[in-house]
Amino acid sequence: MSKHGKLKIIPLGGLGEVGKNMTAYEFNNQILIVDTGIMFPKNDMLGIDYIIPDYDYLRKRANKVVGIVITHGHEDHIGAIHHVLNDIPAPVYATALTRGLIEVKLARNNASGKAMLHTVEAGKSVEIGPFKVEFFHICHSIPDSVSLGITTPAGFVVHMSDFKFDHTPVDGWPTDYAKLAEFSRRGVDLLLSDSTNSERPGWTPSEMVIGPAFDKVFTEAPGRVIVATFASLISRIQQVADAAAKHGRKMALAGSSMIDNVKIARKLGYLEIPDEILIPLDQALQMQDHKVVLMCTGSQGEPSSIVGRLSAGTNRQFDLKLMDTVVLSSHPIPGNEETISKTINRLMRRGANVIYDALAPVHVSGHASQEEQKLLMNIVKPKHFLPIHGELRQLKRHGQLAVELGIPEENVIVVENGQIVELSGGKIKLGERIPGGYVFVDGQSIGDIDYDIMRERGKLARNGIFLIDISVDKLNGRLLHDPEIITRGFVSPEDAEEMIPEVRQRIMDVVNGGGLDNEKDIANAVKSYLYEETKRRPMVLVTLSKG
Ligand SMILES: [Zn+2]
Ligand SMILES: [Zn+2]
Repeated sequence: MSKHGKLKIIPLGGLGEVGKNMTAYEFNNQILIVDTGIMFPKNDMLGIDYIIPDYDYLRKRANKVVGIVITHGHEDHIGAIHHVLNDIPAPVYATALTRGLIEVKLARNNASGKAMLHTVEAGKSVEIGPFKVEFFHICHSIPDSVSLGITTPAGFVVHMSDFKFDHTPVDGWPTDYAKLAEFSRRGVDLLLSDSTNSERPGWTPSEMVIGPAFDKVFTEAPGRVIVATFASLISRIQQVADAAAKHGRKMALAGSSMIDNVKIARKLGYLEIPDEILIPLDQALQMQDHKVVLMCTGSQGEPSSIVGRLSAGTNRQFDLKLMDTVVLSSHPIPGNEETISKTINRLMRRGANVIYDALAPVHVSGHASQEEQKLLMNIVKPKHFLPIHGELRQLKRHGQLAVELGIPEENVIVVENGQIVELSGGKIKLGERIPGGYVFVDGQSIGDIDYDIMRERGKLARNGIFLIDISVDKLNGRLLHDPEIITRGFVSPEDAEEMIPEVRQRIMDVVNGGGLDNEKDIANAVKSYLYEETKRRPMVLVTLSKG
C-alpha cells in the first residue's frame, strides 16, 4: 500500500508520568483521541482532587476531533472523560464494560446528557474519519480491555494500552495473539506500548496466583476480612467474591464508586457474583465477623477513602475491630509509598492485622514485565517504537529493550508529554512541541489552580502564616492601635504576642520612613524581623487601613 500524508502522534498524558493517559492522532486536519485519563495527586500537590491532561491543543481544534476511543475502564484512562466531552463533543467508542463504566462516571458528574457513546466489540473495526481502528482483546486487570490497530494513509500504528500476557486470566479470555501476528504480517510502521514494568525482569505472574493467597487469608482471618483495592479493578472484585463463596462468607461493598461499578459490571455480565453472596453493608455489619468480607477503596492510603478513614478512626458507617484483617490489594502508585506506609502503621496501631503485597501475593501487577514486552515486540516486529505509559526512566528502559531486540536506535523515539511525533514517508521524526503539563482539579475549579498557587499552598503548609492588621491615622500617619496579629501554623499565639512590641517598632520604622502606603515594605520589614527571631519565613500578610 502506498503511503501518503503525515500522521501526527500527539502525547498529552502518560509519557513521563504514571497516570492521565491521553494520546491524539492527527491526520489531514482530523483528530482521533485515545484515552482521557486522570492522575492522582502527589503528596506535595496540596488540596488537589486529581489532575487531568492539558489538552488545550485539542480544545482549540474541537471541531476537528472525529472520535474518542477508550481502551479500558481504569481511572487513568477514563477519569477525565466528562471534562473532555464538555469541551469536545465527539463520539466515544468503547467495549461494553468500558462503556458501562463511562456511563457511571458521566452520571456521577451530571454529564450524561450530550454524550454519544458507541459500543464496539473486540475483534471488530470502526472507520472514524481517516482512521480505521481495529479493536483487539488484551489481558489486563479489568475485563473487556482492548488495544488498537490504527490504519491511516500515512501508515499503520499499533497502540498497545495496558496489557499483560496472562495465560490464565480471571475472565478466561487471553490476549488475541493471532491478531498481533496478523498485524506483523501486514507490516507495523509504529508500535506504542505500555512501559509500566520495563524495569522488571521476567514475566508478570498470572492473576491466578492471587487465589491461593486469598485462600490463606480467608482461612486464617479470625474476624472480618476487609479488602481494599481500586473501584475499577473489576477482576480483583471477582476474585474476592469467589474467595467469599468458597469460604462461606458474605461480601458487602463500601463506597459509592465501588457499588456503582459492581452494579454495572454485574448487569453486563462481567462480574459473576451470586445474589446470595453479595449483601448490603448494613446487613453485613449485623452478621458474625468471621462470616463477612467487606470490599472498599483506599488501597493507596488516600485520606478521604474508606481505608484512610478507618486508619484515622473517622469512618462513619463502621469502625475497625480488633480481629479485623485488612488486605491492601494493589501496588503503590509511585509517589504514594509514604502515605501507604503511614496508613499501614495506623491500621496496625488500631489493632488490625494488615496484609499487603510485600507480605503475601495479594496483588499482582496488571502490566507486562520485560519478557512479555520483548515477546510483544518480537511478534509485532514494528519498524519504529514509541514507549508510552510510564515515568521517563521506564520509557527509556523500554526503549533500550527495543534496541536490544534489534530495532535500530534511530527508530526508537523516547519523548514526554507535549512532544509531537510525526510519521510520514515511512519515517518518523520529532514535530512541534506543545504544552503537555498538569491541569489541577480542585472541587469545581478546573485549571484555575496554577503552579503559583501550588507554591503558595506549599509555603503555607511548611511555614505557616503571620497576619498583621494595622490602622493608621490618615492625617499624621500614627498607628491608631497596636497591630493585631493572627498566626496559623507558625508559632504559638503566646509567642506571637511576645513579638508584638518589636513588630510594632519595625512597622513604625517603615511608617515614619514614609512607607505609609506600602504594605509590601511593611511586610518585608516584618519578614526580616521574624527571620532574625525564628530563622523561619512564614507567609506575611499585611492589611492596612486609614482612619
Ligand atoms: Zn489499566
Ligand atoms: Zn493505565
